[in-house]
Amino acid sequence: MTRWLTPHNPLTGDQAGSVPITEPDHVADAVARSRTAFTTWGAMSHAERAPYLRGFAKHVLRSMDRIADVMISETGKHRSDVHAEVLAALTVLDFYAHNAARLLRPKRGALWPFLTTEGWTEYHPRGVAGIISPWNYPFFLPLLSVIEALAAGCTVVIKPSEITPLTGQLIQDLAAEAGIPDNVVQVIHGDGATGAALVDAETDIIAFTGSTAVGKKIGAAAAARLKPVILELGGKDAQIVLADANIKQAARGAVSFGVFNAGQMCVGIERVYVVSEIYDEFMTEAEKAIRKLTVATGDRTDIGPLINPAQIDIIEDHVADAVDQGARILCGGSRVETEHGIYFQPTLMTDVTHSMKLMTEETFGPIVPVMRVADEAEGLEKANDSRYGLHGSVWTGNRRHGAAVAARMKTGSVAVNDHVINFFFPSLILGGIGDSGNGGQMGSEGIKAFAIPRTITSARFKPTTRLLGAWLPRGPRPRYWTRLARVLFGWRR
Ligand code: NAD
Repeated sequence: MTRWLTPHNPLTGDQAGSVPITEPDHVADAVARSRTAFTTWGAMSHAERAPYLRGFAKHVLRSMDRIADVMISETGKHRSDVHAEVLAALTVLDFYAHNAARLLRPKRGALWPFLTTEGWTEYHPRGVAGIISPWNYPFFLPLLSVIEALAAGCTVVIKPSEITPLTGQLIQDLAAEAGIPDNVVQVIHGDGATGAALVDAETDIIAFTGSTAVGKKIGAAAAARLKPVILELGGKDAQIVLADANIKQAARGAVSFGVFNAGQMCVGIERVYVVSEIYDEFMTEAEKAIRKLTVATGDRTDIGPLINPAQIDIIEDHVADAVDQGARILCGGSRVETEHGIYFQPTLMTDVTHSMKLMTEETFGPIVPVMRVADEAEGLEKANDSRYGLHGSVWTGNRRHGAAVAARMKTGSVAVNDHVINFFFPSLILGGIGDSGNGGQMGSEGIKAFAIPRTITSARFKPTTRLLGAWLPRGPRPRYWTRLARVLFGWRR
């Protein structure tokens, strides 16, 4: 008997739609269809695939309102937020649709010292990519992996979050309507069991975006099969505010990116470190900024509902644990009850320490905890005192110095005088380190992850090994090789 996923709109409580669950023992069928589609899609040249990818991008652009409607129906997000999410998706779609051939151009090896042979690396598509994605950015995140995989010549099977399956389904529908051949883009539905079956199936690579706990399980399952896996996991982003920063701007940045999308953002600001000399002024500005925000007030609201209601337990636990240990709530701090949906007030906290979960574990709620630090060195030390390493930011009046501080932050990416903006640089890699994953999406690295690099060499004249005298029966004496080594490398300093 078919089982169904029935997502609900957190704003209204209405059922948004339904999709059939792909039971784990049917996942292999989808992967087999994908493999058949790969024989044609993977054999195409970049020039042959490019029109499909550009057509896909155009269709997404034409469908912005429809995508927004579906996303709102199962996340309750604000319409401007979902349009911004589609814009981010279009940025990567456009980039890879127009640059795949250049990014995957064969790389020629250095001819020196053996001019008698040439060599190059080619990038061949891996095959079937399994893409497993979360609920917080249900269009952009799977689509980022989808476009990288398609542009590299892979076919994809997407397992969207069980909380936002309709948006995942829409990606398959849009691809089909845009003329992408059958089964090149497929979606399967279900919870972790369906996702685990996709990892176990005959997929050639897994791209996972989600929590660290699940990422570790997927990493272990993939390792047992020697299957490559891209892991984009949780974060605990730090913002460091230096004495010469534009204080008002830094405070507004802290509030905006601390509570954006109700805090349900992997690259949200979850910790703020402000140097002592500007701390008081910063707090005054931050409090002013956060008090202006509205919760659950219809279309004008700044803070929408929690997309995954289960998250409220973690948020409340982190706040309570911090308060128990001496933290102070300057604004907010409580859930907001409405007829439908669960909301959390935008919350500003201080007197926080690293013994609190609020400063060490991912909260994923609209909380801005601020810590006073003596100076830049302590700010850096505290920012780096984390098992996560996704994104971070440095706020300063001296951009050059900001870049130097950024270089010392142990995260995959850093923004100077901004936050999150790195997502809009599709030509530059984005990923996490430590418990934030092994990531590398976007840029040439992002597309190359879906390709198998294969190096080919070709003898121009006779085999170089023969010219060197390496063939059997044994020719040159051992001294020959030491002399050759000196000729080749002895002149180097
Ligand atoms: P989650 O890890 O609970 O679920 C993510 C996906 O994995 C879902 O589709 C789920 O069904 C599936 N899944 C669960 N168990 C599985 C298993 N054993 N095998 C295979 N698949 C399984 O994450 P979530 O709650 O949906 O999303 C929130 C998390 O995602 C946060 O930790 C957030 O930081 C992270 N995230 C990271 C990034 C990034 O780019 N680094 C972006 C967005 C979200």
